[in-house]
Amino acid sequence: MGFPEVRAGAHSAQGLRSNNEDRYVADTDREVFLVADGMGGQEFGEQASSMAVEIIPHAVQVHLDAHGDPHQAVMQALFDANRAILDASRHQDVGRRMGTTAVVAVRRDDQFYVAGLGDSRAYLIRGEYVEQLTIDHTIADALARNGALTPEQARQSPYRQVLYKFLGCDDLSDSAEVRPFTPQKGDRLVLASDGLTNFIAPDDLITGAARHTDPQEWANELVTLALERGSNDNVTCVVVAFS
Ligand code: CA
Repeated sequence: MGFPEVRAGAHSAQGLRSNNEDRYVADTDREVFLVADGMGGQEFGEQASSMAVEIIPHAVQVHLDAHGDPHQAVMQALFDANRAILDASRHQDVGRRMGTTAVVAVRRDDQFYVAGLGDSRAYLIRGEYVEQLTIDHTIADALARNGALTPEQARQSPYRQVLYKFLGCDDLSDSAEVRPFTPQKGDRLVLASDGLTNFIAPDDLITGAARHTDPQEWANELVTLALERGSNDNVTCVVVAFS
């Protein structure tokens, strides 16, 4: 049985915000997919997420070609983007920091490799099964993983949006995990910013995947749904369909 056909769709909406700091890549030729959610206010967030989408797809290819190990290649690409964003941040004379989340998926041979920094997420949907492939690098989520907060307390916590890992942070040494998976026919991979994931439940992903064969139509619908449910953030997703 051959590798499934890979198709993709993507959509990003500014929503109620004055600018759109989300960026994405949905490149079926290079088979790299990415969502980045910039922060820093004014133009800084846009600059950081733009750098992420420029640097990571190219860097991951360079590192794959150089030494082949996909875990290392993905991590190195994230380090490259982190360094570039930190350098750019230091050159801002107003002393403002900028940063961005990044969730990336790239194919190597018969596997996809997924990694995330920050609170943008990757979900794998396979029939009635949904798995979040990334963890949220928020303070509240870390406290919940330690057992210091219940999941419900974490959802109410003032730290639920405070990130401790992202691109543009000083220390990425203890960095993101790279999660491999082997796509099967019928699988969907969804990458999304928190403007979407805060308003879309796993059940929505199961029913949506069953209803949409066209990844672009589904991406449009997911963004519309998040906005209809009251998301006041930028809303972005990339949908990858394996058929
Ligand atoms: Ca956001």
